[in-house]
Amino acid sequence: MSTDLSIYPEDIESIPFAHPGKILDIASGWPSMGTTAGGQTIPFRHFPSERGKHSVLLVGGVHGNETEGIIFLHDFIRKYLTGRDTSPFSFHLWVIPVLNVDGLLAFTRQNANRVDLNRNMNTKDWTSEVAKEKYYPGPHSGSEPETMAMETFLAENKMDYIISLHSWKPMINLNGPAMDFAQKMHEYLDFPIVEDIGYPTPGSLGTYAGWERNIPTITLEFQRGLEHETIFPLAEKGILHSFTVLDQ
Ligand SMILES: [Zn+2]
Repeated sequence: MSTDLSIYPEDIESIPFAHPGKILDIASGWPSMGTTAGGQTIPFRHFPSERGKHSVLLVGGVHGNETEGIIFLHDFIRKYLTGRDTSPFSFHLWVIPVLNVDGLLAFTRQNANRVDLNRNMNTKDWTSEVAKEKYYPGPHSGSEPETMAMETFLAENKMDYIISLHSWKPMINLNGPAMDFAQKMHEYLDFPIVEDIGYPTPGSLGTYAGWERNIPTITLEFQRGLEHETIFPLAEKGILHSFTVLDQ
């Protein structure tokens, strides 16, 4: 796979879900980590491990219209976590299937306040300046309830590895000290490892957690527009293999 990202189309859209709300059925009965700007609850769950000392967070749907990342995590939960109360892995697992529930339901990148949640976190480089309306970072950093729910979660739970699932152009975008994880993932997932995506992302989760808090964070970008059923098989092995860094 080419590392020249310019070969991929810039503005292709994801395939929408026929019934977006149905995706959240996978997390029915889970606790809520907060309420969105549009009044939706944000399900999340901790799957504790008896054996492990490390903690991993998988988060999908920071951008509500990037269905590829959301369906990956949906299928991951279905295969590995259905009917379980504990982690099947050697680490504590935390899962946020969809952070931006408003965006999922409306098929928008942003939340119900039209804020790009991946530009809204309290990072040192947060700025109100914005190149395109779709990146609107909010009236101030941390203005959105979803952002505050995520920051509170990260303050209360010390993570050792975070994967945030998105779609744009295929890449393993690493934030913070995540190269070991990226390289393991790359052994089974033929996406380029990218440290700099070519434009600044102030207020992003990768900057907040990866660069400013030293938590290895991977922003995994699927190619937008992929058929949904192809996505989980594409990345399953790579993601599982990246977890082995924690065993070393
Ligand atoms: Zn995204």
